[in-house]
Amino acid sequence: MSFADLGLMPELLRALTAVGYTTPTPIQREAIPLVLSGRDLLAAAQTGTGKTAGFTLPLLQRLATTPVLHPSNKHRIRALVLTPTRELASQVEASVKEYGQDLKLSSMVIFGGVNINPQRDRLQRKLDILVATPGRLLDHVGQGSIDLGGVEILVLDEADRMLDMGFIRDIKRILALLPSQRQNLLFSATFAPEIKTFAQNLLDNPAKVEVAPQVTTAERVEQRIYPVDRDAKKALLTQLITDGNWNQVLVFTRTKHGANRLAEGLDADGIPAMAIHGNKSQAARERALSQFKAGKLRVLVATDIAARGIDIDALPHVVNYELPNVPEDYVHRIGRTGRAGAGGIAVSLVCIDEHKLLSDIERTIRQKLERVIVPGFEPDPNARPEPLRKPQAARQPRRDIPARNHGSPSRSEGARSTGTGRTNEGRPSNQANRSPNRVDANGNVSRDNRDNRGNTTASRPQPGNRGSRRRTEGYNA
Ligand code: AMP
Repeated sequence: MSFADLGLMPELLRALTAVGYTTPTPIQREAIPLVLSGRDLLAAAQTGTGKTAGFTLPLLQRLATTPVLHPSNKHRIRALVLTPTRELASQVEASVKEYGQDLKLSSMVIFGGVNINPQRDRLQRKLDILVATPGRLLDHVGQGSIDLGGVEILVLDEADRMLDMGFIRDIKRILALLPSQRQNLLFSATFAPEIKTFAQNLLDNPAKVEVAPQVTTAERVEQRIYPVDRDAKKALLTQLITDGNWNQVLVFTRTKHGANRLAEGLDADGIPAMAIHGNKSQAARERALSQFKAGKLRVLVATDIAARGIDIDALPHVVNYELPNVPEDYVHRIGRTGRAGAGGIAVSLVCIDEHKLLSDIERTIRQKLERVIVPGFEPDPNARPEPLRKPQAARQPRRDIPARNHGSPSRSEGARSTGTGRTNEGRPSNQANRSPNRVDANGNVSRDNRDNRGNTTASRPQPGNRGSRRRTEGYNA
């Protein structure tokens, strides 16, 4: 079956030829005709299945071929795509531009962590497709710089992640601003019960598409477990990378601090490495990602949330330096390799503290993974497990979005403010955590004690600040 068989228009077929896609993936085969028919869609598809083109192509075609549904809204946004993270938002919008290169449709991406003013300026002009993270979108709503009254198509991409990250209230606020007559497309890695409930309320008689059974591990990925002592992990990773001549390695850690420490340690071992996570500035994250994609950076160390949406074809090696708290994250992580028909290797360095996590993973993927003990790195049989940092629940978003600070341009226009009230992952944060950010030479973002006018306030630790910092650090961010 070809893309033309799916009913796509010549402008899109030309763009697909230009990007080199010849055959639709299963999700594209199923989703494209359904979306073209105007139906609501509930799709279970993981990253790496080609889901982005699965909704972007028919969305473009519908906008290009149907008259404006809400004609009074001449300059209003016709399609809104919500994503959980900045990286995913950027990549989705890049796909919109790429596939829509021969169409006269305009698009834009908005997310937090960058100056809000240029976004506000751009929003004044005609815009057909907006890709956004929920927090920054609501910031614009609060400032009155966005009008969602003309939205004809809504896409919730990685909806399960958005719910996991505590965005449910924000999404409900956004839904309340949309016209009731519209097409809704919901993409999620799984049909978890909360997604089903959410979908029931949102979607109107949706078509259902499920391209991969829930939580199946990519078959093309070769998976291996390296049992090793906690303190020997870095040395083992250095040896694996060096001896195996691995040149493009995505490494996962559980915490931001761990990511920084490992990147520095590998660098010190002569292996160029950088970390990306929620405490890095947007510029630092983009720099690291583009160098890694271009093959100029050998190792990228990432936390789970930061890695969402990282899209690199045929990534050869993924390393779980630490196992994730949730088995589904293991599946997401290893899905970074073995993409689009390419083979890949996913290895996990597992110490005694993580045995329970490993058995949970094996139970979930219904597979016993091969253990490989590297000579010189045999685990100490007398080692005792130490408790792992507990996973933290997602915080509830604030209740006062439109009212919060939006009346105060001095704050929201401050160049150093995120303006989002969220962590840099786009995750909701509490009031106490909303002070401006400082970016150090490595691109790490830290918060200082300045008030809205930039004056330094008392350095006495704020109970809320301390609490929220602890929560964020423990999170898989
Ligand atoms: P996604 O699941 O949307 O993140 O896409 C995963 C990767 O597959 C991306 O790098 C896409 O560029 C690529 N891709 C999407 N559709 C196709 C296709 N039909 N043929 C080849 N590659 C594709």
